[in-house]
Amino acid sequence: MSLFRKAGEKFEETKQSFVSGRKAEYVCRACEKSVDKEYDHCPHCGEPAVEPID
Ligand SMILES: [Zn+2]
Repeated sequence: MSLFRKAGEKFEETKQSFVSGRKAEYVCRACEKSVDKEYDHCPHCGEPAVEPID
């Protein structure tokens, strides 16, 4: 449980890291940029290639 609490404290910092692509749950296969949710179309390149990293 302490792991989740620590993740919550880090959330704001992590969220700002999405822009640099350091950590995200989804990624676009077309342009290989990370995105913060499973978009139908990639917000970066517009391709329908966003997939969960896992
Ligand atoms: Zn893309």
